[in-house]
Amino acid sequence: DTAANRIAAGEVVERPASAVKELVENSLDAGATRVRVDYAGGGKVMIRVTDDGHGMEADSLPLAMSRHATSKIDGSDLLDIHTFGFRGEALPSLGAVGRLTITSRAPGQEGAEITVTGGQIGPVRPAALNRGTQVELRDLFYATPARLKFLRTDRSEAQAIADTIRKLAMAEPFVGFTLYDTDGAREILRVDAEQGELFDALGARLGRLMGRDFVDNAIRVDIERDGVRLSGFAALPTYSRGSSVAQHVFVNGRPVRDKLLIGALKAAYMDVLSRDRHPAAVLFIDCDPHLVDVNVHPAKAEVRFRDPGLVRSLMVSGLRHALAGAGH
Ligand code: ADP
Ligand code: MG
Repeated sequence: DTAANRIAAGEVVERPASAVKELVENSLDAGATRVRVDYAGGGKVMIRVTDDGHGMEADSLPLAMSRHATSKIDGSDLLDIHTFGFRGEALPSLGAVGRLTITSRAPGQEGAEITVTGGQIGPVRPAALNRGTQVELRDLFYATPARLKFLRTDRSEAQAIADTIRKLAMAEPFVGFTLYDTDGAREILRVDAEQGELFDALGARLGRLMGRDFVDNAIRVDIERDGVRLSGFAALPTYSRGSSVAQHVFVNGRPVRDKLLIGALKAAYMDVLSRDRHPAAVLFIDCDPHLVDVNVHPAKAEVRFRDPGLVRSLMVSGLRHALAGAGH
């Protein structure tokens, strides 16, 4: 029922940036090597995500638009989720809160397109497309003016979209990203796919996104304990441009904002950094999906670890040790 769908949809889609996040994660899940995001009116008027991923067959388009339909779990083990988000919620939610058009082409097939408006799924029609998928969302929250009213200015919504893309781009150095503001005809961000070994690629990508200065004044972290791996770049205490916005933590590839993890990062630097300064770091925690619940809430970047103490001590003592090893 559409009313219930619309309420559930509001949980997943809080603002244009959350729509962008869901769509780009779908592109990444589809194996895209290049993702382009265009937007107008801070994403309220239009969001368009174009990828070169494996696409969808025409027959599966209506299915992708129905709730809880996902191609990403086979039902044998609900916990065996390697990709992100509430399963099978994003596209139906977006189709409930805006006018959504998906154009897609699977290899060896003709392209096809489907439109969903206010939860009403239209017919599948042939459409021209080279490859991959293009998802266009127009008039976000047009049917729920109350929600629309809560959005910030175009400028701040656009800022939130840019932050989202930056975060996703940090975690995916082998994928190229373009962010384009169609109102100002302005490219906001463009990074090509990085080359080489993971750490080199990551360093190159972070250099573009955080500044070369950060990477040149950071240590490479790569430690593992009891099946939990901590890797990434952590700034040396001498790096002066640390701030709370220069702290990025990812759990199984997903950007999180988690008090436990940020607290652990702070604690790791306690002895080497004065109280009034913030460490800068881009850290990836990877573990068996069974050891962490990243689906606490689709729109909130919280995580729940099976063993929070283990993760905390890995961050605190692991980082301390690594920083000490760097001669500080
Ligand atoms: P989920 O990602 O949890 O499976 P979504 O509602 O986000 O649910 O997407 C539904 C389904 O649509 C996906 O499982 C996938 O099969 C398909 N899909 C969505 N976006 C893309 C895309 N960009 N490329 C290929 N398939 C896609
Ligand atoms: Mg999804």
